[in-house]
Amino acid sequence: MIWVVFLCGALWVLGGVFDRPRRERWILLALVWGLAFFVLRVPGDLSSDDARVWVLVTVIAGLGLGYILVLQRLKRRVTVPDAPKPLFQPAELERYARHIMLREIGGPGQKALKNARVLVIGAGGLGSPSLLYLAAAGVGTIGVVDDDTVDASNLQRQVIHTDLRIGTPKVQSARDAMLALNPFVQVRPYQRRLTAETAAILDDYDLILDGSDNFDTRYLVNQLAVKAGKPLISAAITQWEGQISLYDPAHGTPCYQCIFPHRPAPGMVPTCAEAGVASPLPGVIGSMMAMEAVKHITGAGEGLKSRLMIYDALYAEVRVIGIKPREDCEICG
Ligand SMILES: [Zn+2]
Repeated sequence: MIWVVFLCGALWVLGGVFDRPRRERWILLALVWGLAFFVLRVPGDLSSDDARVWVLVTVIAGLGLGYILVLQRLKRRVTVPDAPKPLFQPAELERYARHIMLREIGGPGQKALKNARVLVIGAGGLGSPSLLYLAAAGVGTIGVVDDDTVDASNLQRQVIHTDLRIGTPKVQSARDAMLALNPFVQVRPYQRRLTAETAAILDDYDLILDGSDNFDTRYLVNQLAVKAGKPLISAAITQWEGQISLYDPAHGTPCYQCIFPHRPAPGMVPTCAEAGVASPLPGVIGSMMAMEAVKHITGAGEGLKSRLMIYDALYAEVRVIGIKPREDCEICG
C-alpha cells in the first residue's frame, strides 16, 4: 500500500510540474488506486486486515473528495453582489470637508445636498450668486431658466457672467461658470421664458428659487409652485432694498400672493433697468437665497417660513416680519 500511495503522490507532483488541471490529476489517481485494488489485488486476501485498511482509506478518500467537490460547486453558485457605488468620490469628500464638519450639516446633510434638485428662475443679479453657491455647496442637480443673453450692462452685478461671454445665452454662460467651479454637479440649462406651457420643468425639482426681475414671472412662478406643492424661495430687489421669504403653503405658510395680493400698475415699481440697483445688493440677497436653500435641504437651523426679511442696504438695516396666509388668497386659499 505504501508503494501505491507513493506512486499516487509522485503522479500528483508530476501532474503539477506539467501544469495539468487538478480535475485530471484526481481522475488519474482514482484510476491508479482502482487498478491496484480491483485488478492487481495488491492487498491479496480480501478478508485480511490489510484489505480492510484499503477499503477504509478508499472510503475516507472518496468521502473527502466528494465533500470538496460539493463545496466547490456551492461556492461557484453563490454570486458575490457588487458593492454599492459610493455616493461621493474621494475628491468630493475633500471639497465638502468644511461642510461635513458642521454639526448642522455633516455627512447626512451633504448627502441630502447631493441628492437635491433645485430650479433657479433667472440667471441675472439674484441668480448669479445663488447658482454659484448652490454649485459650490454641492447641490447635485441644478436647473436654470432664462431666455436672455449676456449684455455688457448686466456685468455691474451679474457676476456669474464674464466680459468674454457677452452675447452668449445666460443659461449657457451660467452653466460654464458653475461647472468650472464644481465639476461634480449636474447643470440643466433651459433657454426659455417660464410660461404656463413650459411649467412642466418644475416637476423635475424639489425646491424652486425665483430670482426673476419682473412681476409677471414672479406671480406665475408662485402660482405654478403652489399648484405643484413645491416650496419656493422668492426674492426681489430694487435700488437699495431687497426682500426674501420661503413660501410653502403645502406646509402652512403663506404664498407670495398672500403677501403681495395686487401686482403694481405697470410703471409704478420700476425694474432695475429703469431705476438702477447697487452692485453688491443682488449679491447679498442672492446669497441669502442659496443659504436658505442649503438650510431647507439639510434641515439646519430656522428658515424663513412665515417670515419676510427686508434688507435696507442704504441704512444697513435688516427687519424680519411675521407673515400669515390670507384666507381669501386666490392662489392658495
Ligand atoms: Zn396665497
